[in-house]
Amino acid sequence: MSRLKTRLTEYIREAGPISVAEYMTFCLLDPVNGYYPTRDPLGSDGDFITAPEISQMFGEVLGLWCVQSWIDLGRPPEVNLIELGPGRGIMMSDMLRAAKLDSAFQQAVRVTLVEASSALEAVQGRTLASCGLPVMWASDLAQVPAGPSIIIGNEFLDCLPIRQLICADRFAGHEGWVERRVGLNEDGDFRFVKDDTPISSDLAATLPAGAADARNDDLLEINPSAAQLLDQINARFQDYPGRALFIDYGPDSTEFGDSLQALKRHEKVGVFSDPGNTDLTARVDFAALHQTAQSIGLDATEAVPQREFLSKLGIEMRAVALARAKPEAKDTLTRQFHRLTAEDEMGTLFKAMVVQSQGLPMPLGLR
Ligand code: SAH
Repeated sequence: MSRLKTRLTEYIREAGPISVAEYMTFCLLDPVNGYYPTRDPLGSDGDFITAPEISQMFGEVLGLWCVQSWIDLGRPPEVNLIELGPGRGIMMSDMLRAAKLDSAFQQAVRVTLVEASSALEAVQGRTLASCGLPVMWASDLAQVPAGPSIIIGNEFLDCLPIRQLICADRFAGHEGWVERRVGLNEDGDFRFVKDDTPISSDLAATLPAGAADARNDDLLEINPSAAQLLDQINARFQDYPGRALFIDYGPDSTEFGDSLQALKRHEKVGVFSDPGNTDLTARVDFAALHQTAQSIGLDATEAVPQREFLSKLGIEMRAVALARAKPEAKDTLTRQFHRLTAEDEMGTLFKAMVVQSQGLPMPLGLR
């Protein structure tokens, strides 16, 4: 049994069943035995692969998107470029290389990486050692210096801890929802259990509009950490203008069903199979994100499919230019392009969405 599993089992035995959010936080972020703090999980030798790891084109077109965003912010002489959950730092490295085309942006930009894992921070430091700009780290967005900001998070929201609720009686308002938790069976293994008592009215007030369509036994996932992040972003944008881009997998309207998944070596495994040693994520509810952002006064765009977003950013042209410069890489580039944009790959499952301070132009690639 992994050390984390032993500790978690003891904890649940003492404290009773824990929320799925607590389970995810333990497994992913425990400083001693958690998944992210103890390894580099990315790439073909790791557990999962992300868009910037698939192709340099992804970060490159996003670099140009950042330059345009800086122009939209009114070309401030200093701008924070903040990446949330930068993985191995590859996307930032590709973005900064592409953004060198604009020397005024290059002069203005102050890079901060918000990272919870010291293991990944070390990898990011190596990746960005020769990027030509100083890089700062923060473990929380609130620690990043004030000022105009461009924030980007690719596959960041999907690893924030979700809570799972089950509709026990669709006609009973908030009293009809109960929380699904992680408890223990007779053998001491983890199992899902349901609360006997309904969720609080405070929690019920945070449910997305789509929750009203629930039928009995539907499972709804909510992401309080994403809502908290939007609050932090909103606070940051009160004094200085800013824009935040999120790219992740998930639907653009609230869907029901358990989407918590564990990945190990690119295969799906059980979410309780090896706590602390598997990646855990859940799909992002972009409708809920949009609703929360607007309710606190941020401007929010629609969530657009990744293929549409990247295409509007000119990824086809970038692919053609790269293939011209290196004809022997043409097949590889075609494959990479397909993975990022095809309907049966990341093209429609993944969405891009922006939240920004009020009064800014519509961001490039969005609607
Ligand atoms: N954006 C990268 C990596 C995605 S994996 C890419 O696209 O390749 C998720 C990243 O978020 C990892 O770097 C992980 O350590 C980090 N992370 C997870 N939870 C976090 C949190 N609460 N605060 C800061 N970073 C976090």
